[in-house]
Amino acid sequence: MLKVGVHVSISGDLFRAIDREREIGGNCGQIFSHSPRGWSFTFPSNEEAKNFRRKYRNKDVNPFVIHEAYLPNLATPKDELYKKSLKATKKEVEVAKKLDIRYINIHPGTHTGLGESKGLKKIIRSLNKLETGDGVIILLETTSGSGTMLGYSFEQISKILNETTINTGVTLDTCHSFAAGYDLSSKKAVNETLDEFDSTVGLDNLELIHLNDSKHGLGSKKDRHEHIGLGKIGEEGMKSIINNERLRDLPFVLETPENSKRGDKENIQKVKEFRENYN
Ligand SMILES: [Zn+2]
Ligand SMILES: [Zn+2]
Repeated sequence: MLKVGVHVSISGDLFRAIDREREIGGNCGQIFSHSPRGWSFTFPSNEEAKNFRRKYRNKDVNPFVIHEAYLPNLATPKDELYKKSLKATKKEVEVAKKLDIRYINIHPGTHTGLGESKGLKKIIRSLNKLETGDGVIILLETTSGSGTMLGYSFEQISKILNETTINTGVTLDTCHSFAAGYDLSSKKAVNETLDEFDSTVGLDNLELIHLNDSKHGLGSKKDRHEHIGLGKIGEEGMKSIINNERLRDLPFVLETPENSKRGDKENIQKVKEFRENYN
């Protein structure tokens, strides 16, 4: 069965996110657990968490993923920022447990001058401090590699996976990896990129696809998402990803723009249209 959804807002009440997803035709999705541009963290109340869990248990919208807020950076050389980042990431784990959400998606980190190797080590050390238990899996998202961002190469993702002792998996963001230089614009290119992914990270570790087209070209290192099929990955690339034997059973979560061209509902519809034998 095709699993597709978008990143939705939690405004009003957490469980509203599940309603929003249903309303636009999604059957999986993603949320921020609080405002992504701030450090302030309002823990969901017991009542709110209970309402969310009750709706989530229906499984008609599943899985839901928490995307970590934008500010935390586990690879930073700045002490103050690092402490806040680790604390915030630990809180995300607590929220996920409280909501019975299995996946927390994180951007590995930006080293801002510390150097790649030290940055990666710091990320690994930090992740090993999280108490994920059996219930929570930290998904490392592939990045575009802009600036000093880590996690742009499959080798780096693989190193983090191999050296962490907690439960981890991987989110392949199609826009980011394309911008990082992994071609996804044709059937052949998708297969070659997946071969490379498999021989480094291992497809067994791939849990989620962030399905986004890219405004900028292959290897541009620029992270700008575009509507499905309308970017540089394009229609052929998107169809090849959505129908690929090795990807088709994974959840596809869209983080596409909403503007006069299209909204979330239309992008979900496009994915369904691109899926062969969709019913
Ligand atoms: Zn992301
Ligand atoms: Zn992005």
